Amino acid sequence: MVYEQEVLIVGAGPTGLTLAVDLARRGVRVRIVDAAVEPSRGSRGKGIQPRTQEIFDLLGVMPEIAKAGGLYQRLRFHFGPFSFRGGSLGTRHAPTAATPYPNLLQVPQFKTEGVLRARLAELGVSVEYGRRFESFVQRDDGVEVALSEGVLVRCAYLVGCDGGRSAVRKALGFGLVGSTVEDKTLLVGDVKVEGLSREDWHVWPWARGGMLGLCPMPHSDFFQVTCAKVEDVAGLIESVSKCRVTEVLTSSSYTPQARMVQRYRGGRVFLAGDAAHLHPPTGGQGLNTGVQDAWNLGWKLAWALRGGPDSILDSYQAERLPVAAAVLNLSRTLYVNRSLKRGALTNQLGLHYRESALSSGAPVGELHPGDRMPDGRLPNGQRVFDVLRHPGATLLSRGDSKVLVRPDGYIARIGRDVVDHYAGLPVLRIST
Ligand SMILES: Cc1cc2nc3c(=O)[nH]c(=O)nc-3n(C[C@H](O)[C@H](O)[C@H](O)COP(=O)(O)OP(=O)(O)OC[C@H]3O[C@@H](n4cnc5c(N)ncnc54)[C@H](O)[C@@H]3O)c2cc1C
Repeated sequence: MVYEQEVLIVGAGPTGLTLAVDLARRGVRVRIVDAAVEPSRGSRGKGIQPRTQEIFDLLGVMPEIAKAGGLYQRLRFHFGPFSFRGGSLGTRHAPTAATPYPNLLQVPQFKTEGVLRARLAELGVSVEYGRRFESFVQRDDGVEVALSEGVLVRCAYLVGCDGGRSAVRKALGFGLVGSTVEDKTLLVGDVKVEGLSREDWHVWPWARGGMLGLCPMPHSDFFQVTCAKVEDVAGLIESVSKCRVTEVLTSSSYTPQARMVQRYRGGRVFLAGDAAHLHPPTGGQGLNTGVQDAWNLGWKLAWALRGGPDSILDSYQAERLPVAAAVLNLSRTLYVNRSLKRGALTNQLGLHYRESALSSGAPVGELHPGDRMPDGRLPNGQRVFDVLRHPGATLLSRGDSKVLVRPDGYIARIGRDVVDHYAGLPVLRIST
């Protein structure tokens, strides 16, 4: 088959955009389509975890993400005329050499997507809005994909990043296993409220229908509202806050679920993000797990397209499926127990691929095959993340000791005989 594209991505949410940026910077011919006629405007997935910030650093977008975001405020619980301040869902740790982004950052989702879209445009790729995925046919050497308005695209690989109702997942015939974690339908939206302090994240635990939250979004004049689904959200807010709602900017409903697929790959077709796993919003894991799926898949697709073994593509499911299962379990537990525990539990810095077939060798000091390569200074003075930002693998050596770092910044191998581990992939060699 003659491909028009090497990779077609369906869905331009945070997962699809991260994958598109990563593939484009690795020199892959990529096309990205979205059924919506324009970018989404909601703030919903607003918690950017420390590990995601590291990935955004490696993708070159962290300065813009930091500018768009802020640290989490403290919670203020309201009971009638009384209120008291509780803790925060975020931390305020000082950065260290190994962990430059120790805190959860609050960024409205549409701003995160905007930053990724701008980076993608710099790399010469634009999202095609108003193009809906309809069906695909797989051949031995590629995939023919039918989009709306009779558009046909031939590509080597298709990736469904098309969210919880994924049409790509349905076309693959993959079901979701799990359950809803709440009987009620909930509402998430963005509202302008006159006279309400923007210092705290306001919570009314006993509002009509259940808890109501108003979280001030950084560098903006609106709040994210979360509550039980109601017809008149402005009326509900005014009744508890005694403040006037001047505008309802966005509003959508969802039912918290904990469900995931049992397979991430069907031949040349892959799933990533909410298309593969649906989380309750507790713990801020959904968007972050999608970004990390994309980050895991990007370099593998790029290598497979340049002659890497097909088995590298199987490692995507082998590595990411257990992570999604663990993360799903965590966000379900936090939701069911109404737990406010966060920090190390949710920052995704400790997620690793130690059991992966791609990880080998013996640990040395803090470094363990399969773990994320921490930031810091190499003995030659270079910053580790600056070194890792290039699109290939990295071989760090000092005398006989060698550490091979994968193109996604995880340690592949520690030992003396690491040289041909990734034959065909560009390897940057650094003698420290
Ligand atoms: C209240 C709330 C709070 C949340 N808080 C957090 C948080 O703090 N941290 C966190 O990590 N996550 C959070 N999330 C979850 C987060 O919003 C999602 O996990 C995230 O949006 C998933 O990204 P995605 O790119 O995989 O899918 P989506 O963002 O759903 O994007 C899918 C895209 O695919 C497009 N599409 C769909 N069907 C088709 C088709 N047939 N053809 C073409 N395009 C199609 C859609 O238009 C859409 O643009 C929260 C969610 C909610 C509701």
